[in-house]
Amino acid sequence: MSTKNEVIKKLREDIAEYSKRSYMRHLVSGTGGNISVKVPDSALVLITPTGISLAEIEPDMNLLVDFEGNILENPLGFNPSKETSFHLVVYRIRPDVGAVAHLHPPYATAFSNKGETLPLLTINSRIALKDVPCIECALPGSRELCDFVKEGIMKFKSVNAFLMKEHGILTLGPDLKSAFYTADLVEDTAKIALFTEILEVSKKG
Ligand SMILES: [Zn+2]
Repeated sequence: MSTKNEVIKKLREDIAEYSKRSYMRHLVSGTGGNISVKVPDSALVLITPTGISLAEIEPDMNLLVDFEGNILENPLGFNPSKETSFHLVVYRIRPDVGAVAHLHPPYATAFSNKGETLPLLTINSRIALKDVPCIECALPGSRELCDFVKEGIMKFKSVNAFLMKEHGILTLGPDLKSAFYTADLVEDTAKIALFTEILEVSKKG
């Protein structure tokens, strides 16, 4: 049986891996985005630091915080993601959630600018995502944005993917792998919706 420290060490490696994969899949650019994972059967969360590209995240850069945002472990002295508060809101409201990804994929973000639910034009996206509602826009890191996320999570209790207006996406899952693949699917679903719209316009025109 692994000790809690061994579990945390493995999750530090996993969060670094999925951060890099998010960047490589173009789900985020520059130093944007943040990813977190809950330590199972605890009220502890590992989260990526602020100001570092997800492409460069190494295991020990991630911070261990409690549900109130108190920093418990910070081996390399980074500051936590400025969106830590909305990640923690998700874990507090949804005990089934084990990982949260907030990313800025371009196609899904373009759809978020409409302020509407993402069109699910494939059978697979309808089965896997069911609904991708849009959360209102507010300044990154603000209390207001955290409140909008809280509102969305409370209103759509079984939804695991959200657009964030003029900003990006938020995906949830039982683990990092699931939150990552949901984000990947949301972005490809947005891409398909965009090309479908273009094809329809060109057919008419
Ligand atoms: Zn963001």
